[in-house]
Amino acid sequence: MAIEFLPSKLKQKVAPKKAVEKLVTQKLTLNRAALTMLARSEILSKPALEKVALKVIKSYKRTYGEFRDEGLSKAEALDEALNDKKLMVNRVQNAVVSQIAEDLKETYEGELYEWLPSDAAEPDPLHQLNYGMIFELGVGEAPGDRYGCQCGMRILVNESQLEL
Ligand SMILES: [Zn+2]
Repeated sequence: MAIEFLPSKLKQKVAPKKAVEKLVTQKLTLNRAALTMLARSEILSKPALEKVALKVIKSYKRTYGEFRDEGLSKAEALDEALNDKKLMVNRVQNAVVSQIAEDLKETYEGELYEWLPSDAAEPDPLHQLNYGMIFELGVGEAPGDRYGCQCGMRILVNESQLEL
């Protein structure tokens, strides 16, 4: 039996796009109700989730300010700033995935794992060399170490499959 860590599947499961998008309100503030809902997945603590969301909101505000400086109206600048909700989705999902990877590495340090391919649009060429090879957890770089790389791993342990 093995434990599979598949970032793209995990993202949708523990931090669905729609739920993440709700984290920011039309006033560029944090939606606390949405935060509480998302934190129920218990993978990322509420404070950790809040930290990520607030950072993204800060960058939305910066973008808003830049558009205002360029002469856009308040409504237009807000529209443009919020247009890219992908930013929030990416940040939150990557934070969740890297937390799961960290937990797995801690729990299964010393176990062997197979490096699984990334489904990122532009996979890391160095990681591609590792696909299908067996490594030891805790020795050298592992999938999930690099932010957003999206490589997976199959941890080879003699335990019943862990449902993630
Ligand atoms: Zn990778």
